[in-house]
Amino acid sequence: MVLPLLKGGDPHELDNYRPISRHERINTRKTLIIESCPDDDLVNLEVLDEETIIAHLQRRYQDLQIYTYVGDILIALNPFQNLNIYSPQFSKLYHGMKRSTNPPHIFATADAAYQSMVTLCKDQCIIISGESGAGKTESAHLIVQHLTFLGKANNRTLREKILQVNPLVEAFGNACTAINDNSSRFGKYLEMKFTPTGAVMGAKISEYLLEKSRVIKQAMGEKNFHIFYYIYAGLYHQDNLKKYRLPNKTAPRYIDCVNGKVMQDIISSKLYKEQFDAIQDCFRIIGFTEEEVNSVYRILSAILNTGNIEFTSTSSQHQSDKSEVPDSKALDNAAALLSIGSEELQEALTSHCVVTRGETIIRTNTVDKATDVRDAMSKALYGRLFSWIVNRINALLQPDTNICAAESGMNVGILDIFGFENFKKNSFEQLCINIANEQIQFYFNQHIFALEQIEYQSEGVDASLVQYEDNRPILDMFLQKPMGLLSLLDEESRFPQATDQTLVDKFQDNLRNKYFWTPKRVELCFGIQHYAGKVLYNVSGFLEKNRDTLPADIMVVLRTSENKLLQQLFSSPLTKTGNLATSRARVTAASRSLPPQLNSGRNKVDTMEMMRHPEETTNMRRQTVASYFRYSLMDLLSKMVVGTPHFVRCIKPNDDRQALRFNKERVMVQLRYTGILETVSIRRQGYSHRILIEEFVNRYYYLAFRAHQMPEGSRENAITILQKAKLDNWVLGKTKVFLKYYHVEQLNLMLREVIARVVLMQAYTKGWLGARRYRREREKRNNGAIIIQSAWRGYVARQNLKQIKRERAQAAVRIQSAYRGYRVRKDYKQTGTGQPTPERRFSTNYLPVEEVVSVSREDSSGDVSVLKTDKRSYSRKRDGLQEQGPMVKLHHRSPRRRGQQPKLLNSPEDSLYYNHLNRSLDYQGSKRKPRKLGQIKLLDGEDEYYQLLSVPEDEVLSDPSPNPKNATPTGPPAISSR
Ligand code: ADP
Ligand code: MG
Repeated sequence: MVLPLLKGGDPHELDNYRPISRHERINTRKTLIIESCPDDDLVNLEVLDEETIIAHLQRRYQDLQIYTYVGDILIALNPFQNLNIYSPQFSKLYHGMKRSTNPPHIFATADAAYQSMVTLCKDQCIIISGESGAGKTESAHLIVQHLTFLGKANNRTLREKILQVNPLVEAFGNACTAINDNSSRFGKYLEMKFTPTGAVMGAKISEYLLEKSRVIKQAMGEKNFHIFYYIYAGLYHQDNLKKYRLPNKTAPRYIDCVNGKVMQDIISSKLYKEQFDAIQDCFRIIGFTEEEVNSVYRILSAILNTGNIEFTSTSSQHQSDKSEVPDSKALDNAAALLSIGSEELQEALTSHCVVTRGETIIRTNTVDKATDVRDAMSKALYGRLFSWIVNRINALLQPDTNICAAESGMNVGILDIFGFENFKKNSFEQLCINIANEQIQFYFNQHIFALEQIEYQSEGVDASLVQYEDNRPILDMFLQKPMGLLSLLDEESRFPQATDQTLVDKFQDNLRNKYFWTPKRVELCFGIQHYAGKVLYNVSGFLEKNRDTLPADIMVVLRTSENKLLQQLFSSPLTKTGNLATSRARVTAASRSLPPQLNSGRNKVDTMEMMRHPEETTNMRRQTVASYFRYSLMDLLSKMVVGTPHFVRCIKPNDDRQALRFNKERVMVQLRYTGILETVSIRRQGYSHRILIEEFVNRYYYLAFRAHQMPEGSRENAITILQKAKLDNWVLGKTKVFLKYYHVEQLNLMLREVIARVVLMQAYTKGWLGARRYRREREKRNNGAIIIQSAWRGYVARQNLKQIKRERAQAAVRIQSAYRGYRVRKDYKQTGTGQPTPERRFSTNYLPVEEVVSVSREDSSGDVSVLKTDKRSYSRKRDGLQEQGPMVKLHHRSPRRRGQQPKLLNSPEDSLYYNHLNRSLDYQGSKRKPRKLGQIKLLDGEDEYYQLLSVPEDEVLSDPSPNPKNATPTGPPAISSR
């Protein structure tokens, strides 16, 4: 299966260069059958020898297939050209896919690590190894890119920050070497932190063994750390060199060993300047303050100025070999940028204090010594600044504990160290770099071969053993105590009289094995047979580089700086790995003996700040680079072994950095020393995954049992799961399940699918439950609203009713008063006395308001009705007209319809009224006999009584009402006493 790569055209047209059989592959993924793709995986090759493997890799490289699998290990050939296979479309293509679905890719490795982390809830570690220039750093970038994509960093700012970390750190830690324009000059372990659900939440970098010596001197054809060129060019183009007191005619000595060339580059090319702008953006995006960035620039400019300080020797009467600074410009500039006194700096450079028997004696430095002190200061400044930047990045990218507790988070670590180096002249730095690579190779061997084969034997599994090159003896030769090379170096470094020659002699006397030799006729040299080849080391400067001492006088002067950052750099202690400590927990507040310079002058400085950490100067004396190195290796390994490793082996196809050039010999050497052939064998025959039976059942029981069953971790259950998953070629040991590399991938994929189904079902159920809860809640609310509404409406209706009653009562009173007035006036006219007739007295005094209204109504509607007086209305009448009650009842009474039975006056009240009325009629001389109580009388039109109640029309019309507005439309109530 070959993925044709774009050699031109639109890089984003992913579909254009998808493999033809991709569709088939997707189908096979669904059915979970491992499809054999002989081309993609060396394990599938029929013939397994060096020649076949080389030919196979070469063919793939010509097709621009730079990646190839060896089981679960990825081989990456450096293409030395930009390939369009890293776009977001490719990230999508390699998201959660089985390895064989797509052609091999660095994204697939990142994806495998990520998926394992999420599925198994375990930390992962991606170890990238290879020679310098083989493509480790590029691979690390691509892994970070894909992990950020997978980590669904919704938080765009966090995503951007993480992506800026590598460029920023590499600007300070990478440099141009003879074999790589962007060579990492430090070891980097980047941990990306994820929540248990797999969302990226932060990052942390650990840096190891920065090659500080590069700051002061570079080999021919090599350069200083990138940042010096970026900042110098950036400030030059911004016209800001003056502000940072940098010379503008000739580039500072530290960055321009070959005269004038750098200045030319800076003036003619915009590249450095663009990089400077990019670095400024990195600082800003990651979250450095402007003040911090300015301090960083000041320190970098100070280092460049320090490099320009020259010394000459002077001799006075009493002292010989004294040095002084003839041109104080650079010195003043450096002092000003570091916010320290120029004189104090000069004194610290040209003299040093010696304490003997309680007395402090100041001794002068020779020119050479002063130069060394100057360079030591530059190295210390740069080293601590680099450490501080890394610590600051870590603080700014710390996971938010609000999102996820630190313990529950998981991480994927990416190791990108300096690659194996073998130059024409190799020094102490190359020795450290190569020992580190030796250690990584040992880890690889342990993981791939040693542990695996030990387990076959102890578990009684029949698997043929694979021979491999064990580099443990070389590693022991370096790291053993007390007779290892590093221990011998440390021992020699402690003797003040030791020279490079005594060191070589010491090595020669003590290191007697086949991996070490001293070449004849070459002075101050020794050779080491590394796993990756023979390397000759030149010992000159070894002791000095290993001591790496910063004189206490310089330390004291730098601590007096008014620059906060600088104070911090020199008051924090160094860790055992030689980095700046992050926490100040270990810091003790008191200083026991302050050197004399400290007490004089510069009173403004916070002395407490300066007095802290008396121990790290002594520390510095005790600690050597070799000891930092030893601790760094330990620290690195301790981090690596926590996670499940994934290996990426970078191979350099040629030494000329030429695209499409495949140098068979060079590749063969690399394949040999990395043990690729053996790796292929062991991956083919062996079982790369060995899981305890109990853990296996616990991890994969979903595949064969119900989720709630939790079967016990027995062999039978393990077999059930393996059979249910339709795997073959697995082996069951005494306590472990032995699986091939592809089994685990298959199982994990199935597990993910099952879990995805469970999650889907849970989501549906949760949705349904939520909807039901919502409906119930809504119903309850609706009912509540109805109750509130009905209460309120009731209240409003009662209020209205009261109001209407009140208005009606008032209206009735008014009508009555008008009518009474009218009657009185009429009587007065008739009788001339103004006294009402007896019957009138009755009708006006005792007729309740209700009746008055009712009568007028029923009259106006023309309906025949019988006046009804109820007991309550009488009593209310007596209590006053404001009393309400039956009036409303009357008002609501609907007129009786025609043909209906007339209302019978048969209630006691009716009878009472009737009798009353009868009596009044009697009084008027009626001929009618009084009716007996309870006797029914039908009222008809001719009935006298009816007539009595009807109002003559002319009377109503001519009634002079006192307030016509308030009168009812039908005129005053017609109660006639005729
Ligand atoms: P190392 O870190 O192993 O020393 P680098 O990662 O710095 O090597 O790679 C050296 C050079 O090789 C890079 O500067 C780049 O030009 C080229 N290179 C490496 N990997 C790739 C890649 N995947 N695509 C394109 N160029 C690459
Ligand atoms: Mg690198």
